[in-house]
Amino acid sequence: MNIERAIEIQKIIKQQTEKNKKFRRDLQNNLLDFSEDAEKEQRIKEKKCKTCYYLKKNLMTTLDQQTTHICKLCEKSFYAFDPYERICTNCVAEHDICKYCGEKLN
Ligand SMILES: [Zn+2]
Ligand SMILES: [Zn+2]
Repeated sequence: MNIERAIEIQKIIKQQTEKNKKFRRDLQNNLLDFSEDAEKEQRIKEKKCKTCYYLKKNLMTTLDQQTTHICKLCEKSFYAFDPYERICTNCVAEHDICKYCGEKLN
């Protein structure tokens, strides 16, 4: 193996290590926030349960375009920018539940 390649490989390994360090740190912070419900007001406003809000937030993305979803509860279709929304606004309001998974907000 030539020296340039060896240096390149060391760089890739270092980058990945840093990436995972950040991932672990974020996860630990999220767990801490979860146990304290640190952003409760904002969480309730966004209609997300504790698990979805704190522990799955790194997995969530929003699209720049709305897509059609079928509500898990009333089976009516609705539009959302957020690809993970599974419950329509009406059902969320009626049952006071998470718009992603349907868990109680409190
Ligand atoms: Zn619904
Ligand atoms: Zn949820």
